[in-house]
Amino acid sequence: MLKDKDILDEKNKILHTKSKDVIFPMDEKDKKIIDEMIEHLTLSQIPEESEKYNLRPGMGMAAIQLGIAKRYFVVVYEYEEGKFENYVIVNPKIVSSSSEMIYVEEGEGCLSVNRPVEGIVPRHARITMEGYNTDGEPVKFRVREELAVAFQHEYDHLDGILFTDKIDKNNPFKGKEKYRAI
Ligand code: ZN
Repeated sequence: MLKDKDILDEKNKILHTKSKDVIFPMDEKDKKIIDEMIEHLTLSQIPEESEKYNLRPGMGMAAIQLGIAKRYFVVVYEYEEGKFENYVIVNPKIVSSSSEMIYVEEGEGCLSVNRPVEGIVPRHARITMEGYNTDGEPVKFRVREELAVAFQHEYDHLDGILFTDKIDKNNPFKGKEKYRAI
């Protein structure tokens, strides 16, 4: 089982490096890590479990956050109270995106950023992402709103970008009127 301390902090330079494509067949080790990521993210979103194991709630994690510079990530989305949908994508590409931009009004969070950060992170309201599952079969996800934000946030991790890098430090709410708050 993963612990919060297994997740690298933003101060770690590894988080700012670009991850490399996975070569199939995928290592069993990586598949196991994906299962652990799913378990961690699911438990972290169940209040009794997150309290019991002292986990910070999070809905997404990229391999690089565990120090693994490979292009895959996991999103665990609570679509109904207590019900979760898991998304796993390897070697993802954003194949289309809406021109409409949104931002998370309460601010984005990240398991690697252990401090409150204010400001606007513009994201596409809808995107389509293509990639592979852990068996190397093609997958395609069309996501919108909160899920679209999570996918773009995790995708950025693969390029060494944190959400904090996207906020204008001198003017964190710059351009607010151009985007829709969610
Ligand atoms: Zn993150």
